[in-house]
Amino acid sequence: MSHTEAQNHAGNTNLNRRQFLTTAAMSAACVNVAAAAGGAEPGTRPMETPNIDPGFVGPQFFDKAEEEALLEVLQSASPFRYWGPGRPTKVLRFEENFAKYMGTRFALGVTSGTAALDCAIAALGVGPGDEVIVPAYTWWSDYTCVVHAGALPVFADIDASLNLDPKDLARKITPRTKAVIAVHLLGGPCDMDAVMGIARERRIAVVEDCAQCVGGSYRGKKLGSIGDAGIYSFQINKMMTSGEGGALVSGDPVLYERAARFHDMGMINRLFLERTGGPSQMKMFAGENFRMNEFTGAVLGAQLIKLDTMVQRMRASAESIYEGIRNVAGLRPRHRPDPGGDIGFGVFFEVKDKAMRDRCIAGLRQKKVPAGTLGGSVLLPLDESVINKRTRHADWPSFTSAEGRAMQYGAGCCRQTLEVFDRFVQVRVGAKYTQRINEQIISAIREVVG
Ligand SMILES: *Cc1c(COP(=O)(O)O)cnc(C)c1O
Repeated sequence: MSHTEAQNHAGNTNLNRRQFLTTAAMSAACVNVAAAAGGAEPGTRPMETPNIDPGFVGPQFFDKAEEEALLEVLQSASPFRYWGPGRPTKVLRFEENFAKYMGTRFALGVTSGTAALDCAIAALGVGPGDEVIVPAYTWWSDYTCVVHAGALPVFADIDASLNLDPKDLARKITPRTKAVIAVHLLGGPCDMDAVMGIARERRIAVVEDCAQCVGGSYRGKKLGSIGDAGIYSFQINKMMTSGEGGALVSGDPVLYERAARFHDMGMINRLFLERTGGPSQMKMFAGENFRMNEFTGAVLGAQLIKLDTMVQRMRASAESIYEGIRNVAGLRPRHRPDPGGDIGFGVFFEVKDKAMRDRCIAGLRQKKVPAGTLGGSVLLPLDESVINKRTRHADWPSFTSAEGRAMQYGAGCCRQTLEVFDRFVQVRVGAKYTQRINEQIISAIREVVG
């Protein structure tokens, strides 16, 4: 693959993330109108083509619960989490319930998944001179959180699991490596036994980025509860949503206090110390403001109750489709270290090469199946701003160290990731797919690939 071609990939996936769903929604709407019109004519069957727009997951479950919780915040005139004329408890309760759901001691609500990553990296004390290993295919925030800390991002390849290749993770560790961000991408868990084994042996911290796998698990443990810290996003493309929002979880009281301080200018509210069992020995340090507001907490509290339903529905559809394409020649499904922990965000399979992948996608789209290349993330090492190590200041510590200056990004540092990317087809799964839609997708894949 040429350099320019590779960069186009990154561009395409960017487009996919924000615009693919909109395009899919528009075409699905057209299909429905056509079907409804057809239904008026005698002799034609209405709804011949079911709606296979996966849509945004969380908003499909908005109902009275979100509405009432939002109204409570409005009517109490207390949209700020710490104080107000009423007794604000939305974010407080959401954090408690989220920690319980994830099986961790502590949870912290923040303004976005990106902010949660910044908190995790700050809490781990990552800074200039440190290296953090990040998958070559993921969302920007996993790279920017390392750069903002003044540390050096080191890319590791993904494999046919579409997540970190543990072999390449082990190869990329140096004496300067402080942490790895294990991203559970595209609804499927990383091979966490392998990742944790390597990390513990080499004494590096593990941040689980669960932004694309909220509600997923690995061998019975909820994602985010296995590493030193876990982060989540509640942006609209993810599972449960408040439009924007994020959370961090941890079982470590010191790490949690540092994260809570970082998210609130370096100060610590008493409520966090009540959770950790303070009093705190920690001194204030320069932080940020990533506090979650009560409207966000209200919506997330209501969405959390529905998370299991969302996951169960999507997982059931994804499993049905995986089962239906199990023995199609010329197709290999995504390698899944724990299929039971997959949230069913999509169905992913590998074909023999890029030309075949493109033919499959075109064929599937013709049959109204929401297919595409892998989406929602970026081939980071190919991005021009990454290749040129551009930061907000020319003397940024990430890239002024000897290692930072020597680091070469670009296609050369992630060949395997590019090969994997080129061979994979993604088919999105909707939370409200019926078995009829699943079967339509199965027969489309069988016809197109077979
Ligand atoms: C969405 C996403 C984030 C960032 O979340 P925001 O809420 O959009 O800031 C981080 N990591 C991954 C893998 C994501 O998909």
